[in-house]
Formats: sequence, structure tokens, C-alpha cells
Amino acid sequence: MLPVLKVGSRRKALALMAAAPVALFGAKQPKIRDVRVIATAPAGLRLSIVQIRTDQDGLHGYGCATFTQRADLVNLAVERYLRPLLMDKPVGPVEDIWHACYNSSYWRNDAVMNNALSGVDQALWDIQGRLAGMPVYQLLGGKVREAAECYAHAGGDEIEQVVESAKVLQRQGFRHIRVQVGVPNQAAYSSGGGRTYGGGRAPAALGRSKTGALHDGPMFEPAAYIRRTLRMLEKVREALGDDVELLHDVHERILPTQALQFAKDVERFRLFFLEDVVSAEDIGWYRHIRKQTTTPLAMGELFNNPNEWQGLVQERLIDYLRIHMSQAGGLTPCRKIAALTESFGVKTAWHGPGDVSPIGHAANLALDLACPNFGIRELVPFNEQVQEVFPGAPVSKDGYLWANEKPGWGIEVDEKAAAKYPFGHSETGERQRLNGGWGTVHRRDGSVIKQ
Ligand code: MG
Repeated sequence: MLPVLKVGSRRKALALMAAAPVALFGAKQPKIRDVRVIATAPAGLRLSIVQIRTDQDGLHGYGCATFTQRADLVNLAVERYLRPLLMDKPVGPVEDIWHACYNSSYWRNDAVMNNALSGVDQALWDIQGRLAGMPVYQLLGGKVREAAECYAHAGGDEIEQVVESAKVLQRQGFRHIRVQVGVPNQAAYSSGGGRTYGGGRAPAALGRSKTGALHDGPMFEPAAYIRRTLRMLEKVREALGDDVELLHDVHERILPTQALQFAKDVERFRLFFLEDVVSAEDIGWYRHIRKQTTTPLAMGELFNNPNEWQGLVQERLIDYLRIHMSQAGGLTPCRKIAALTESFGVKTAWHGPGDVSPIGHAANLALDLACPNFGIRELVPFNEQVQEVFPGAPVSKDGYLWANEKPGWGIEVDEKAAAKYPFGHSETGERQRLNGGWGTVHRRDGSVIKQ
């Protein structure tokens, strides 16, 4: 409310206010002047980075909006729907802007809009850090640990390859290793040398006579995978001993009753956690699985609706929540999720493979450093091209990920370098034909499986 002034002074004050920078909820703040997407694929996977520019010289921020399988849609959502909503708004009320964006589409919690919103949200947090001259973890309360303990990916089509791959990672200083093995004649998930998402698939089915498949495409049968994985875990534990923590990702590919038995069968290998043993659609099964096994359970990389994680956390049915930060809508919701999980003794293990950009990893890391209930960080090393595009990306050393201590995320995007790696530049075959999307994998009888 304006103070009581004489008519002339009041008119003058109103004119001054109109010319001043926007003051919403208190302080005067820089305003948003542009919201755009930088699309780049330096490691092959399509990354979407939102840049917010302000009316303050040189002040901008970056956020990760990566939904690599539907990247063009996210980019459109940012530029055609969120940009008009955000133009000329002050950068300060991050929480308020999050709710404005979240509610503006009416239909909420879908993957495209949540990822678009994450890009905006993380860019605004980056700007807050730059304005304050502090890393974002400091804005969240400061460090409770020096660096984030990581797990790395070991894999191979053969069990011996998995063992060798895990030994290499152990020598590099990793104390936590995820192990995945191929299944002969099947499209097993992420088995090849630590590669992810389709790159490590075993050869496609050899044909009906050998496999009994009623199709010629990639095939997966849960029972064969389970038998093979149990043998692999036995060999890896034998070869590496007890001083290493082992993790395994089922990737939702087995039936719920198989999941229950499998979680019991792997108890003897003392896993750090067993991930996605059932699908997001089958989370009700955790009540049954939890009662019958001591294997630590991790879940959640596909979640984008609070109803999916609230029950699991409140009933203490899982040990690690694996949410993909951009899929849940950014840092703003995830810091609340971290607080919720802390209250119930559940730990965080934010999803962190190659389709999270270094900006997204920095946002994950800010929570890892500031939250007491941090569990573990997933790490896929940044290759040279990724580091070229994202100077300042977090650094991995001795099994830990270390934050850049500069303000905000401490990362810039080299747009000249980013332009050298446009979407699709290294894609071939089906991935290219599907515009970066995934193809299908079928059971022997031709029915499609969850991936
Ligand atoms: Mg996973």
C-alpha cells in the first residue's frame, strides 16, 4: 500500500514505481527477457537445456529438460507454452513460478510438461545462485557431506565380461557397482560394457527354430534372464569379494510373482539395492515383496505423479527413491520429496544416467550434498564432447562426484560446441527412424514387454 502523500507527490511516486524493476513479494528483481531451448546430443542422447535470460547484463541460468525419447515435444512445450507465460516475470519467486507453470496446462503430471517445467525451474535456481554468489547447495542449507558417493555401471554379454568390467571400476576407485549381464539370443537390458538404453542389447532373436520366437525382432523372456542373472551375481560376488557393494536393475522386466521370488533369491548376494523389480503400474506388489525379503529395494525413475511415491514412502515399502528429477518437475518438487523421504527413513538415489545432462546432474548433486538422507548417486562418466559443451560439469574422482564451487550450478553451455552435435547426428537404424525414440522388445509369443 502506498503511504499517504499529497496529490502531486503521489502521482510522482506512481510514475517512479511504473518505471522501476518489478517488485513482487518484496525485493526488486531482474525480469525474464527470454526463455529458449539449447538442443544438443554430445554423447548421442538428445539433451534439452532451457536457458532463461534476464534484463540484467550477463545474468542467465540453465535447466535440464531432458526427455530424450520425446525431446522435440519438450522443446516445443518450453518455447510455445511456457515462454509466453514467463516473459517479463521477475526471476525471484521460483516457487510461485513453478506453481503457475504447473497449473497453466490444467492437465498435470505428464512427462512432457514436467520436463519442460524442470528446465525452467532449474534455470531459475541457477539464477538465484548467481545472484547470491553461491552454489545452489548453499541456498538449500549448505553441505552435510563433502561429495556424493557414486555407483558405476558394469556390464557385458558374458558373465566373465561383467566380472572384468567390475574389476576395472573397482581399480578406478568405485566402491559401488551396478552389474548387468546379457542373455544369449535375447535383448537383455544394458548388458554391454556399461552402455545404457539399448546400446548394450544382445543380438536379436536368431529365428523361430532356435528360440521358438514367433517374430524376428528383439526378444526377452523373464525366466531365462532371472536364471542368468543369479549365476552372474554369484560369480561377481565370488570374484570381487565382500568389500564391494553390488547393485542390479531389473528394469521392470519380470512378472510380479517372479519379482517376489527373485528378491528373496538375491538376498544371499547382499545387494546394496535391487532396482525396479516391478513396474510403476505394479507398485502395489511392494506390500507383498517387502514382507518377504530383506533385500533393499529401489524404485521410481518413471514416477511423475506424487500419488506414485507418497504411499511407497509413507508405508516404508522401499529403501531408495530413484526419481528422475526432470520427470518430476525439477528441483522445487524434488527438495520437498527429499524432505518427505527423510521423515520416513527412506534414502534418495536420484536417477542419473546419460540422459540427464550435466546441468541435471548438478541439480541432483546439490540435493545429494545438502540432504542428510542421501543414499547413492548414479554415475555415467561425461565423455570429452559432453565436457566440451558443458564446461564446469561436476567431476568424478575416487568413486565420488564433486560439485563445482562456483555460483549457481557453476556450469556454462558452450553453444558453438553444442551446435556441433545436433539431435540425431550419431543415430542410426531404428533410433534414427523413431526420431530418438525407443523401439519395442517382445516376448517369445510376440507380446510387447515394458522396458
Ligand atoms: Mg533404472
